[in-house]
Amino acid sequence: MISRELNFEGPSPILYLIATPIGNRGEMTPRALEVLSSCDFIAAEDTRNSGQLMAFFHIDKPFISCHEHNEEESSVKIIALLKQGKKVCFMSDAGYPCLSDPGQRLVANCLDNGIKVAVTSGPNAAINALACSGLDSTHFHFEGFLPAKESERIARLNELVTNPDTLIFYESPHRIFKTLLAMSATLGERKAVLARELTKAHEEFIRGTLPELCLLDEASLRGEMVLVVEGAKKTRVSLSDNEIALALKDQLEWGKTPKEAIKAVCQSNDLPKNRVYEIYLANFKRDE
Ligand code: SAM
Repeated sequence: MISRELNFEGPSPILYLIATPIGNRGEMTPRALEVLSSCDFIAAEDTRNSGQLMAFFHIDKPFISCHEHNEEESSVKIIALLKQGKKVCFMSDAGYPCLSDPGQRLVANCLDNGIKVAVTSGPNAAINALACSGLDSTHFHFEGFLPAKESERIARLNELVTNPDTLIFYESPHRIFKTLLAMSATLGERKAVLARELTKAHEEFIRGTLPELCLLDEASLRGEMVLVVEGAKKTRVSLSDNEIALALKDQLEWGKTPKEAIKAVCQSNDLPKNRVYEIYLANFKRDE
């Protein structure tokens, strides 16, 4: 069923998402401050952190805690207030709510309850990094944080190997070096830009290839950072059936299961699964 109502007209209550500065407080917009000044409650990922930001702008409102671990329960409270006619805003620690930050479940729950959602636009680390990267910005893939577990991180990178879009990652300073090494091994010789401390006094863009970035002094990679990596080259290799069979044979000899071997050959050569599967059946199935 279609639901349609102008955001700033009509009877339904509205939740305001507030994008907040990612470093430079001068990027708090007048619109955000206007909406915050007129609200009844501020729901925040970290009430202490947002309390300091609000104190800086002389805004004094009651806070509701809404973070990763209590978002469902907190949503119930926020929705009840909105239905009573209270004006509620939600902000995460920095940048856009919902982008590698809490907020998405709150938004979905509000929409399920007939509550509209608006956002006051503002900074986002991924977009700042992409815009300054000089890499293709026509199509990009926002990955956010890779899994913390090494094996899962590598598995995810392997899934991204053939993605032709510019890839955007968030990473913490204590894992960046391991991530660069893993990317260099999986994604190979690609251009990459490490965007550090965006909008802050020590903002820096480190440009090179992935293997080159692995040579950086680890101790110099401090602060908050976004990694922007060139997408896979869009060259489609045309392999003969015989070459595909050889590629499958290699994978099977390395101990991959048939399913893994087919997937790897499809991904690394940008081939349709049906064709590789048929070649597998014709060449290897009888050996099992
Ligand atoms: N919601 C935020 C946004 O819209 O950008 C992202 C929040 S996420 C929890 C935090 C990550 O964003 C950091 O670990 C870092 O990768 C990136 N980030 C946030 N602020 C940054 C900054 N000033 N410079 C570089 N990266 C930043």
